[in-house]
Amino acid sequence: MDLSVVIPVYNEEENLRSLLAQLTAVLEASNLVYEIIVVDDGSTDGSFALLRELHGEFRRLTVVRFRRNFGQSAAFAAGFEHSQGSVVVTMDADLQNDPADIPLLLSELDKGYDIVSGWRRDRQDRWLTRRLPSMVANWLISRVTGVHLHDYGCSLKAYRSEVVKNLHLYGQLHRFIPALATWMGVTISEVPVRHSARRFGRSKYGLGRTGRVILDLIVVRFRLSNSASPIHAFGGLGLLCLVLGSVSGLALLLLAVLIRQAVGQAVLPLVVLPWFMGVQLICLGLLGELVVWSSHEDQARPGYVERQVLPQQQGGSDASGLAGTPQFLHNDGVHSGEYR
Ligand code: UDP
Ligand code: MG
Repeated sequence: MDLSVVIPVYNEEENLRSLLAQLTAVLEASNLVYEIIVVDDGSTDGSFALLRELHGEFRRLTVVRFRRNFGQSAAFAAGFEHSQGSVVVTMDADLQNDPADIPLLLSELDKGYDIVSGWRRDRQDRWLTRRLPSMVANWLISRVTGVHLHDYGCSLKAYRSEVVKNLHLYGQLHRFIPALATWMGVTISEVPVRHSARRFGRSKYGLGRTGRVILDLIVVRFRLSNSASPIHAFGGLGLLCLVLGSVSGLALLLLAVLIRQAVGQAVLPLVVLPWFMGVQLICLGLLGELVVWSSHEDQARPGYVERQVLPQQQGGSDASGLAGTPQFLHNDGVHSGEYR
């Protein structure tokens, strides 16, 4: 399997038929062996009924249905889990991304990158409530994570499968995939993609996500710098407190001996408090280690529950053999350490 296209769907009934028609037209023309994985994230409109119908028409379609709305990150995670392609492309279901841009992403990936991120240079959303917050968010995320992208929020992105198979997505962290992936050493590129206004259905996000993005950013920053050892993050601060407490303890002792001053009252804030905080912080670090350790044992448990899966039908129209297959299909290594 060359390519898996993963699409999260939450109440996108009016968009699904033309999305699949446009996408299939592009993919059939690409000479790739592909699959389309639509994850119905607990839609409450007629999306799943329609997907069941479309599943009979589009032979390369897999439909995964969640029991309830788990969120876009969980939907991506389920799509990645089911994907078999050596390359995975993600996109929105709302026709705001143009499937015709997929070959662009693939040819950029072909140059040896591990992630190619779409950049909605001419974004068709409201300025004040969507584009401005997103500009600020992209600047902030780039600064804080050190991974500079113009458009974290664009769903249209292409990944080598080993990148998405090694992510542990939960919460709303899908927005940070390129930054999160740097822990495994990846090369990243950006290409401008088209963007249209949403014609049917409603956006699922508003200004309310701003605070959550900031909190998530703290998590990502923490994960990037300390994912291996919380004891280094908390314990480092703890050691600093212990050292400060000891230094001021020594200073107080010297003062007491040299100028024979009673320093008893200063001991509490200058010595006992820093020591107390130091011990607390080291304990917090140990607790963090325990969490990391047990989550390593527990990683088989995803943060979502599926209701059912409609797999691809056997003997679907095969787009082609491997003749003319681009080079990215044969590139099996994750590139180390750099991004652009
Ligand atoms: N989506 C989802 N689960 C959610 C919210 C959104 O699967 O809880 C899907 C939605 O159907 C769409 C994509 O994620 O395909 C992006 O959502 P939306 O278009 O509302 O976001 P925007 O483009 O406005 O940022
Ligand atoms: Mg959208």
